Amino acid sequence: STAPPLLELRGVRAAYEGITVLRGVDLAVAAGQVVALLGPNGAGKTTTLKVAAGIHPPSGGRLLLAGRDVTGVRAGDLARAGVCLIPEGRGVFPNLSVRDNLWMMTFTGRGREETEDAAYARFPALASRRAQQAGTLSGGEQQMLALARGLTTDPAVLLLDELSMGLAPLVVADLYERVAEIARQGVAVLVVEQFATAVLKTADRAAVLARGRVPWQGRPDSSLHAELSSYYLGSA
Ligand code: ATP
Repeated sequence: STAPPLLELRGVRAAYEGITVLRGVDLAVAAGQVVALLGPNGAGKTTTLKVAAGIHPPSGGRLLLAGRDVTGVRAGDLARAGVCLIPEGRGVFPNLSVRDNLWMMTFTGRGREETEDAAYARFPALASRRAQQAGTLSGGEQQMLALARGLTTDPAVLLLDELSMGLAPLVVADLYERVAEIARQGVAVLVVEQFATAVLKTADRAAVLARGRVPWQGRPDSSLHAELSSYYLGSA
């Protein structure tokens, strides 16, 4: 297709206090696509998402949104431009109710009731818990709430960090079905996972992050597993 990808990282470099983590990451996510970014502990997966969301400034390379160079644009402005990051640990406000969590992030101009109804239509399990404190929800429900809250901003690009963290396999499978549905509606989804199994039924493409680069990307088939084991074991 001729349309540029919704999200593109070109040669992205990133460092913390002089210590280089990303050495030239190339990644592209098209509308309707789910791309899984996999890699061992500390490879820089979260850092990649932070760069894509404008939270961590890259020390080199470019960030593009639908072909537009947005390198250096700040997080708030990227959020308004349609980039939504659901951080590891979900970031819901534990002392606020489900409905207040849903309400607090949106800037679409839609009313409170409409915002909530859209969330409950997608995640019916949240509807009966609308008055419950978010901190007392189950892990899976909290992840649903984090997703639902992110979606109140109508994102074009959804960045998910370790969606499966601490959740039972069935709960994870259910969440990834929702993610697939979100992508089918035209959203570009970039998912970080340390362990591949959970996301690979949903992902259209997989990318391996190792040594600050993406040495392998492609369809998540059997060759991916060979690649992954070599990078995880450090033998590559
Ligand atoms: P994990 O799967 O363990 O979350 P990751 O692939 O997401 O790992 P990052 O969180 O991006 O990796 O971290 C990459 C490297 O950068 C690690 O060595 C980490 O210690 C370091 N790092 C991350 N955040 C900071 C920070 N704020 N200050 C200094 N170093 C950091």
